[in-house]
Amino acid sequence: MGGTFDPIHYGHLVAAEGARYQFRLDKVVFIPAGRPPHKTAQEISPARHRIMMTLLALQSNPHFTFSSVEVERPGPSYTVDTVHEMRRCFPGAELYFITGADAVLEILSWYRVEELLSLCYFVAATRPGYRLENLQQCLGGLPGHLLQRIYTMEVPALAISSTDIRRRVREGRPIKYLLPEAVERYIYRVGLYRDGAVPAEPLLAATPCRAADGREEETL
Ligand code: ATP
Ligand code: MG
Repeated sequence: MGGTFDPIHYGHLVAAEGARYQFRLDKVVFIPAGRPPHKTAQEISPARHRIMMTLLALQSNPHFTFSSVEVERPGPSYTVDTVHEMRRCFPGAELYFITGADAVLEILSWYRVEELLSLCYFVAATRPGYRLENLQQCLGGLPGHLLQRIYTMEVPALAISSTDIRRRVREGRPIKYLLPEAVERYIYRVGLYRDGAVPAEPLLAATPCRAADGREEETL
């Protein structure tokens, strides 16, 4: 599963677990985007913070794992390059690229779509506001044999988005229960998403810090 993961939240995790179950996947590899072609550097937090949050979120699921291929690769992050890399890492494996139904439309309009669909299947998770019928209509221009490589998957309608979580932190509103607790703590500890300022280094030292409401938080 690819994404900016800024921050990772339960929408991502529920979609990944749903796909793992439905498609009988051995594991799900979470791949934080390096430099997404459609987002500028100012718009996303440094990769090291997104990696830390992703690692914290994956702890409780033995089927979930992580790859830093995109953040290590220089230049813009194209999904097709990432899928090539995954094929090298897992030779002979059948690959499924899990994504939200909104993102699948973007990905398939981005870059080398036929090549991409010949390398892996796509699993498009529904997200509130993006109906599966719309997706099928929008992709109607693709040849049938490629369309067959795209599966759609119903996940509980989770209206959670990273954009909303960032806005909530900025406004001092709660983010509890939208994302794993360890990720919530990391956000407050490091001071992510406040006033648009991004701290220079992840703070991994076990020091107390303040939550949005001024409470003193426990250590990670
Ligand atoms: P942002 O609001 O910053 O765009 P996001 O919540 O969309 O963040 P991304 O990291 O952009 O998260 O998403 C990674 C992938 O997860 C995308 O394919 C996206 O469509 C999917 N996704 C995000 N939120 C959900 C959700 N609540 N339910 C299902 N899929 C989701
Ligand atoms: Mg998004």
